[in-house]
Amino acid sequence: DVEVAIKTVVVGYGTVGKSSMIRRHCKGMFTKDYKKTIGVDFLELVPWDTAGQEKFDSVTKAYYRGAQVCVLVFSTTDRESFEGKVVAEVGDTPTVLVQNKIDLLDHSCVEEEEAEALAKRLKLRFYRISAKEDLNVNEVFRYLAEKYLQK
Ligand code: GDP
Ligand code: MG
Repeated sequence: DVEVAIKTVVVGYGTVGKSSMIRRHCKGMFTKDYKKTIGVDFLELVPWDTAGQEKFDSVTKAYYRGAQVCVLVFSTTDRESFEGKVVAEVGDTPTVLVQNKIDLLDHSCVEEEEAEALAKRLKLRFYRISAKEDLNVNEVFRYLAEKYLQK
């Protein structure tokens, strides 16, 4: 069988829920659908987690090096995480924008329209998810897998 592993970086401020999201994601992804077109039996998005270095703004270039797809995460309840500049780091790697903690909408610090406007400006697919409630997490990784295969 042909197996492909894709380095997936998950980028964002501390405590936005990156590790939670990674834990939620069931890594394995069967790709019978693609077998005919690209000859891949098994595609795995392998998320790289940080050990919390993002809190000190010292996520190194090594972390991004060779990244094949990227998830940019901000939190519904953390204004700074939305306004942060993580975007600059990712270059032309296929990327999605993710708003996590959507279960906390009542305490939201980010307007729906501004989040959508950002996604539009960056030309990124935008997902609202909850790692806690397991809402939309797999959709994010599935989309990235497809995007990667289309490259
Ligand atoms: P990281 O620093 O970005 O890796 O964030 P963590 O995954 O460690 O999560 C930070 C905190 O946010 C933890 O207390 C998580 O339980 C909580 N958390 C993560 N995702 C969600 C979510 O979708 N909803 C809520 N309510 N809390 C979350
Ligand atoms: Mg973490």
